[in-house]
Amino acid sequence: MGRLIFDAHLDLAMNALEWNRDLTRPLDEIRQREMHMKDKNDRGKGTVCLPELRKGNVGIVVATQLARYTPPGSALPGWNSPQQAWAMTQAQLAWYREMEALGEMVQITGLAGLEAHLNLWNNPLGEGEKRPVGYILSLEGADSLVDVSYLQRAYDYGLRAVGLSHFGPGRYAPGTRMQGPVTPQGFELMREMSRLNMILDTTHLTDEGFDQVMDFYEGPVWSSHHNVRKIVPNQRQLTDEQIKRLIDRGAVIGGMLDCWAMDIRFIDMVSDPWQLDIRLANLVDHWDHICQIAGNSRHIAIGSDLDGIFGTEQSPWDLNSIADLQKFEGILADRGYKEEDIDNIFSGNWLRFLRNAWK
Ligand SMILES: [Zn+2]
Repeated sequence: MGRLIFDAHLDLAMNALEWNRDLTRPLDEIRQREMHMKDKNDRGKGTVCLPELRKGNVGIVVATQLARYTPPGSALPGWNSPQQAWAMTQAQLAWYREMEALGEMVQITGLAGLEAHLNLWNNPLGEGEKRPVGYILSLEGADSLVDVSYLQRAYDYGLRAVGLSHFGPGRYAPGTRMQGPVTPQGFELMREMSRLNMILDTTHLTDEGFDQVMDFYEGPVWSSHHNVRKIVPNQRQLTDEQIKRLIDRGAVIGGMLDCWAMDIRFIDMVSDPWQLDIRLANLVDHWDHICQIAGNSRHIAIGSDLDGIFGTEQSPWDLNSIADLQKFEGILADRGYKEEDIDNIFSGNWLRFLRNAWK
């Protein structure tokens, strides 16, 4: 069975609705149904579904709502109005609610729910019993909040974390592959997030935006899926300076398994993880780097992003499904990580973060 794993970044509802994947079904069946589809690059290559999460003992995840607004003239995919983007996130919420109704998932919004869920996963499973995967709802890019007043509505249905931006220009902050500052509405949103004690996710901010957020935001901060720029020198990853600021703030950084965020040689839709020999162990290089800066293993964890618009074609070659996250136990032990470190990385660090944030 293995240790409990906490994965801080999955786009489950997006996969269910935009990829039309029934995530309650076995992975083989989901792949089979996509065999002849060519509309998306990762068809037939998905690595994430609810049975695989259970198989890997991934009992708790941060699951996203995700819908970008695309201004006229932008080449990025997205919705043509904030209202459409909001409606998409509400469809995603409705899907999570359906999973709750089936007993497949359970929403976690506070400490009592968190502790009850951990109890459930730490106790032995009865014959034929199935545990719901716990999820903390996060909004990846805030574009879909039509205005700041929508944040309270979202909080009321269980939203607990927000990243201001995603890719390209954003209504609250510009995102990955952009430069420039958080917008005035972004500052207004941060004030409201702070009032609600929400977690701010720094992933996908510009460098300028990162500094502004770290200076301005008063609530808890994490980096849900983010690797190290020293190893993969592009703006999407964290500089040593940024890592230091996150550590000082008590943040945790989720290591991600998208090949282009692990190895600078990897080019989307061109490279092959086999050819470049990209393995799960490559992520440990990123974790090591952060541990060296921190002097301990308390700021690294998993934010796999394994269903983030890619599948096996862009994942380490020794991973076939998300259940293979359990392989990190042996890989980390081989690299000299102690039991306590492995516990920290698998779930302890995210749990400590949440217990602090929600106390
Ligand atoms: Zn992302």
